[in-house]
Amino acid sequence: MKIAIAGSGALGSGFGYLLQKSGADVTLLDYWDDHIKAVTENGLKISVNGVEDTLPMKMCKPNELNEIMDTIFVFTKSMGLESMMEDIKHLIGEDTQVVCLLNGLGHSKTLEKYLDKKNIIMGTTVWTAGIDAPGVTHLDGQGPVELQNSDPSEKEAALEIVEILQESGLNGVYSDNVNFTTWRKACVNGTMNALCAMLDATIAEVFASSTIDSMLSSIVTEFSQVAELEDNIQIDVDETIDYLKALAEKVGSHYPSMHQDLANNRPTEIDFLNGAVAEMSKNHGIEAPYCQAITDLIHAKEDVLGIR
Ligand code: NAD
Repeated sequence: MKIAIAGSGALGSGFGYLLQKSGADVTLLDYWDDHIKAVTENGLKISVNGVEDTLPMKMCKPNELNEIMDTIFVFTKSMGLESMMEDIKHLIGEDTQVVCLLNGLGHSKTLEKYLDKKNIIMGTTVWTAGIDAPGVTHLDGQGPVELQNSDPSEKEAALEIVEILQESGLNGVYSDNVNFTTWRKACVNGTMNALCAMLDATIAEVFASSTIDSMLSSIVTEFSQVAELEDNIQIDVDETIDYLKALAEKVGSHYPSMHQDLANNRPTEIDFLNGAVAEMSKNHGIEAPYCQAITDLIHAKEDVLGIR
């Protein structure tokens, strides 16, 4: 199977590595010159749950690949998805499946500008990954990768991707309601990521603060209201807050990715999390003032750091 990874940063490199190890014909696509040069010259150096390896891999810029792919995994940051889709249009044939596991909301609408719904597979993953240096990455966890076909008639296509992910050790799982999983993951990112980034604190520090209950209640209530209006998804506020608190106990020592983005002077995905909820709320004639304020503050911080 010919697979392209469109956006081969932390997660894309890790997925590409495991897919190639299990026999797929993988090409990593990216724009970062130093990363492409390092992988092309030295192979991808990767640690998967602490086990180190170096694998020769094909890597180039999107305009340097000129073959129709069977499957494309998009792994840009949210704000890079649209321009990546523009740059990989020539790799998409009638039967090419595009799999999107990005964090954030609204990505299926972006993909529908470029693809028939029958070729779109949406999902989420709890694998974690990072880049240590150009050409050097790590991937940690056990998954799963939950996914579902966007077009109800295309379940077979999604099951085929699940099987490939299982064979590669990426722990693919078919989901009957990936929309719910996406909104629930957005609640995780819209609380933990945004608050830790703003407060420059670990998850444990934020969840030990005296105002955590009020902050969680405000944010999750806004996500819940908009999820129902936008996608007819029910997010139970109390149950979600309990879920977030239980998760915080497990991963308390972490700084979430949005915190790391600001620390590394990189723009955040806030417009696709709290910002998306604030925007969607307007379309439904309600307001999401807490999410709007968080989005404004994160953008102000990006401005202060000169990264917007
Ligand atoms: P990433 O930042 O590692 O990579 C995204 C793009 O940025 C890639 O094209 C990469 O080459 C480029 N990039 C990264 N560092 C760069 C640098 N220093 N200079 C120039 N370009 C650079 O993104 P990611 O962490 O793989 O995340 C992709 C998507 O998956 C996001 O939506 C993210 O929220 C989601 N996600 C990530 C993780 C994780 O643990 N990394 C977990 C779950 C979901």
